[in-house]
Amino acid sequence: MSVLNEVLAANEAYAADFGAKGELALPPARGFAILTCMDARLDPAKYAGLSEGDAHVIRNAGGRASDDAIRSLVISYKLLGTKEWFVIHHSNCGMEFFTDEVIRGLLANSLETAALGVEGFYDVGTGPGSAEAKYIDWLTISDQAQSVTEDVARIKAHPLVPAGIPVYGYIYDVVTGRLIEVPTATAAGKAA
Ligand SMILES: [Zn+2]
Repeated sequence: MSVLNEVLAANEAYAADFGAKGELALPPARGFAILTCMDARLDPAKYAGLSEGDAHVIRNAGGRASDDAIRSLVISYKLLGTKEWFVIHHSNCGMEFFTDEVIRGLLANSLETAALGVEGFYDVGTGPGSAEAKYIDWLTISDQAQSVTEDVARIKAHPLVPAGIPVYGYIYDVVTGRLIEVPTATAAGKAA
């Protein structure tokens, strides 16, 4: 079965047992939001105990506080009433395995999927690639505790974020499934 058919079959089964979820309110019932990585090993609904309707989950590569992640967080509190936020990065994140320079070089070479060797990513495509990658800040990570702390601090310092929202900083351990607090991040994220 193709991925498309697998997804549609899974959705058919999900919708068949949808129950009262059609009556859920738009604002998240538990009043919080999580910003986390898109990594396929992370399932915020499971690791944070969420059901449909409970919380906002904003995901991108690295779980970074990009302008677009902040756009979502601002909508999350301003229009939909969330009162507490989490920034959750994770161990063994793909964003630790390259730099802006590396991904720009890979994309300049070709648009095919790169390979990952012991020395990092390398390109196996034949091209052409594109220089457009130069114009994107890829928000790569060299140290998880530092990236969580920076992102919490950036969110807290944003002029559209009210001082009263606490932002908690954690690293999800992909080996144990545990959330590990980053104290410097949580300190930076304290509600005023
Ligand atoms: Zn990741």
